[in-house]
Amino acid sequence: MSPRASKPRAAKAPVAPLDPQHVLRATYALDRAYVRRLNDHVVHSGTAEMLVVSPATGQPVGSVSTSTAADVAVAFDVARDAARTWAETSFEEREQLLMRLHDLILDRQDEIMDLICWESGKARIHAFDEPLHVALTARYYARTLHKHLGPKRRDGVVPFLTRIDEHRTPKGVVAIISPWNYPFTMAMVDGLAALAAGNTVVAKPDHHTPLSALLGADLLREAGFPPGVWQVLVGSGRELGTPMIERADYVCFTGSTATGKLIATQCAERLTGCSLELGGKNPILVLADADLDRAAEGAVRAAFSNGGQLCVSTERLYVAREVYDDFVAKFVARTKSMRLGSSHGWGVDMGSLISAEQLAVVDEHVRDAVKHGARVLAGGKARPDLGPHFYEPTILEDVTPAMACHGDETFGPVISVYPFDSEDEAIELANTGDYGLNAAIYSRDVERARALATRVHCGTVNVNEAFGATFASIDAPMGGMRSSGMGRRQGAEGILRYTEVQSVATQYILRFGPHWGMTDEAYAGVMTAAVKLLSWLGRA
Ligand code: NAD
Repeated sequence: MSPRASKPRAAKAPVAPLDPQHVLRATYALDRAYVRRLNDHVVHSGTAEMLVVSPATGQPVGSVSTSTAADVAVAFDVARDAARTWAETSFEEREQLLMRLHDLILDRQDEIMDLICWESGKARIHAFDEPLHVALTARYYARTLHKHLGPKRRDGVVPFLTRIDEHRTPKGVVAIISPWNYPFTMAMVDGLAALAAGNTVVAKPDHHTPLSALLGADLLREAGFPPGVWQVLVGSGRELGTPMIERADYVCFTGSTATGKLIATQCAERLTGCSLELGGKNPILVLADADLDRAAEGAVRAAFSNGGQLCVSTERLYVAREVYDDFVAKFVARTKSMRLGSSHGWGVDMGSLISAEQLAVVDEHVRDAVKHGARVLAGGKARPDLGPHFYEPTILEDVTPAMACHGDETFGPVISVYPFDSEDEAIELANTGDYGLNAAIYSRDVERARALATRVHCGTVNVNEAFGATFASIDAPMGGMRSSGMGRRQGAEGILRYTEVQSVATQYILRFGPHWGMTDEAYAGVMTAAVKLLSWLGRA
């Protein structure tokens, strides 16, 4: 069944917050039977519901049941029960299921994109990234399960006489707490790696965007994953977060640095492992020899994809002084030509922000910057004529450390441009602040750019690309340094975090301790001589 059972409406003027009477009269954007099917995946015992509203138009999309703290206990009990049999499945079985999910997602791409557009207000081109990223992740872990998780031989202390086998076992039940900005991707990719490793999952998406996560659960069921392995809770993080952390064997959190610190503290109290994918204030460096058209095109995507509501999007742009004017002219022209709108069709360059709160942060950052002397080169204002939460893609110049947007994450379509005089200065500027998530360097000399990349304190650095090259390369670890996070998704790190590692040693012939009638001293002498011999052989 398609989520487009009733036709999407054209963009409307801003609407007042919905009062209960309005809700009763509302025409839901999505077919009720479709939403009911998705709602079946919510773990809930009560009758409480929440309304999902399209941020782009203010139109109600559908209503979804909400979970309580008691439901958290149920979800974990079910997931723990399912974990016993799921952990016993072979790598081949998991591979087949993941590949079936991969195929299903690519076949149902349009439905997934429609739902994401409704729920998040983003442009279709940015919704497109989501099913693709989830499909790539499913395929990657399907194809690399053996490599990452299969038993491995390690070097024993005494060659030929000590054998070490390393084994990986699943942690158990993994809690996934995810944000609204990429509601399908963020609800799915970390959980898929956990499932691939033999864990079961209890997922809690952000309350703005539960439907995309529920569609993910629906697709998992359709692909053939057993019931119970993927539980979804809907509701407020403040209410459901703590009971989730109390029961989880591992917590994977994506969201703000402030919430990440709270979660890390709670995990530390229980000695529960966690990975935290947090905020960023990501820089781009445009070196003097860069292809300026390519850099300007990349900077537009880096700053304004998904309205800048992307953890790896760029909010600081450092440009070599000798090309500053040329580059800025190109960047401003491209930005001013962007097409904004609430249509779910192709051809829109930027959609809506997620909420009134997010719009207020963006507006406040720009007002504060202007008040303290920054110049607006493009954009700089809200667009209520397009929808209640639209804001223009905005470029600021002359931003100083006194302004909030200088160091604080805006998480919106606002970027500041600064000139630099030397590459050492550019690196120093890129490394200022507490964050360390993503960076990009544009230069025609890719060797030099790669060398500079290693001096940038960020978990991912892209050369001649904004962020997509690292984010879409699932074999490469992705995550932040410093206040941008702990741990990594993707690659080996992305799956090994969900496992316990066990080393099994088998000792042949030689025992550890004096034997054959040796004194302790003689034993110590023989062992020391053996270590010296092994070191000599290693050097020889
Ligand atoms: P947020 O921290 O407010 O919310 C994220 C999730 O945490 C939601 O599901 C929310 O319900 C839940 N939550 C809130 N309070 C909680 C609590 N006390 N205990 C447990 N869970 C709680 O973040 P947000 O504002 O929704 O998301 C935007 C932030 O996420 C930005 O800072 C962005 O940079 C970051 N982000 C990072 C990545 C990454 O991979 N590094 C990806 C996407 C977003």
